[in-house]
Amino acid sequence: MVESEQVTMTHGAGGVVMAKLIEEYVLPYLGGFKAEVGLEVLDDAAVVNGIVFKSDSHAVRPVFFPGGDIGKLAISGTVNDIAVLGAEPLALACGFVLEEGLPFRELKQVLSSMKAVCEQAGVFVVTGDTKVVEKGKLGGLVVNVSGIGCRSKALDHNLAMVRKYRSSFDSRWILDRNLKAGDQIILSGTVGDHGLAVLSAQEGVAFGSSIKSDVKPLNHMITKAMEIGGIVSMKDPTRGGLANALNEWSEKSKVGILVHEDKIPIREDVKVASEMLGVDPLEVGNEGKIILGVIREMAEDVLKAMKNTSEGRDAEVIGEASNSLDLVALKTLVGGKRILPMPIGDPVPRIC
Ligand code: MG
Repeated sequence: MVESEQVTMTHGAGGVVMAKLIEEYVLPYLGGFKAEVGLEVLDDAAVVNGIVFKSDSHAVRPVFFPGGDIGKLAISGTVNDIAVLGAEPLALACGFVLEEGLPFRELKQVLSSMKAVCEQAGVFVVTGDTKVVEKGKLGGLVVNVSGIGCRSKALDHNLAMVRKYRSSFDSRWILDRNLKAGDQIILSGTVGDHGLAVLSAQEGVAFGSSIKSDVKPLNHMITKAMEIGGIVSMKDPTRGGLANALNEWSEKSKVGILVHEDKIPIREDVKVASEMLGVDPLEVGNEGKIILGVIREMAEDVLKAMKNTSEGRDAEVIGEASNSLDLVALKTLVGGKRILPMPIGDPVPRIC
């Protein structure tokens, strides 16, 4: 990037362009602090003195979309990023930036969604901040939610099960870099729902109102999966979708991943809408799904436990990590193989 260049919408869309922004601008200034899991690791959350720590801002447009709103998204996003490291979310902080003229009716609706998700997840907002900016281009409000989490019995049990099969495993948390050849990749449900719901709302296209965002807190499902055990990596495929998340794993774990296209659950209406709007459902963000890398011997039992939860009833084993590749490949429906590259950026702007 050269100095004369400016920030574009793609810099906030996950994928290659955002990764470059973080690497070239953010890390040289803010990196360098030695933490158990620090900024340079670029995982879903950090770990400092045994506390998992995460912050996430939300600027989705429109603020209300089929299946959710900015409030539901903000609480779920932070809860899920803490939970995928294997931690139990403890408490949240919430910062609002409100635009002058925002109707209180809308603010109340957002706050009531936040309250409902907090109750569902069993975690609460304990501190925060509110700012107001002049009427202009903010378009309503921006919500930041930060949170902390701690070790749980389920995480300790999960890691003990991992070490039964992999004695060399020395990570204290579930991280992107932990994947090894042979690990099975589980996807907790259908992909593309959130991206297509937001895109259809942005474009003013209704698909028989059947496509809804999947946004939800996943900490309870994650606990159930860890109580079985054997999970080494876990991630929510948000901006850039499944393609982005799998490529991050492949790069950080230095292992290839082979995915069977026919095993990836995608709703029929999402497929049709994706074709109409010209986006790839594997590249759009999800807000209520996770991928898991699981020790082969434990994968069937983890899958069964997930299928027993409402959040994971459509879960599938979609592929495995492999040393015979060094990238992410899709085994296609017609039997061929194609590379699934890291997206340039999520095709849906302001998706979260
Ligand atoms: Mg994440």
